[in-house]
Amino acid sequence: MQDPKDHLAETLKQVRKDKKLSLDKAAELTGVSKAMLGQIERGESSPTVSTLWKIATGFDVSLSSFIEPSSKGLRQTTVRTSQDIRQHPAGEGLIIAALFPYDSALGFEYLELIFEPGYDRASSPHAPGVIEIITVIEGALEILSDDLWHDLEEGQTIRFPGDKPHAYRNLTDQPAKVLTVIHYPNGR
Ligand code: MN
Repeated sequence: MQDPKDHLAETLKQVRKDKKLSLDKAAELTGVSKAMLGQIERGESSPTVSTLWKIATGFDVSLSSFIEPSSKGLRQTTVRTSQDIRQHPAGEGLIIAALFPYDSALGFEYLELIFEPGYDRASSPHAPGVIEIITVIEGALEILSDDLWHDLEEGQTIRFPGDKPHAYRNLTDQPAKVLTVIHYPNGR
């Protein structure tokens, strides 16, 4: 597998070019500083997950497109082992395995996320119509949606609008492992 930092740098440059955005405009859209965006594009910085998410949301692309090449066009049966592809972006208490990265033909990405104890963060709202589905497979996680914290235990699944304010927190002393589908209705 390619160095994740290189894939990120190339993808960010490509997306910015495709959208014909200056660094100034990109900084404005994402809320990430021009200096930081430049460092990421030069492969000099490994951003946190929340920075990645801000960039993805600001550019209106999926998170996993920055983590791994798209699985678009994948026709054959494929097995992926999460422990081989887990990444731990800069110290933020979240481990990501892009089980099946975003596929624009299908409009979704399928991820395994591990929220470490103490994780507590708001997600910036995604593009209009984005839906998140999360199933807890180990531990317990709380999700804020529609102004309510929903306590989720192992085996429970939540579906909520990703285009409204939402947040995730793990107040337990055990990691919370979830599987999630993020659906982008208009193909990103
Ligand atoms: Mn989200």
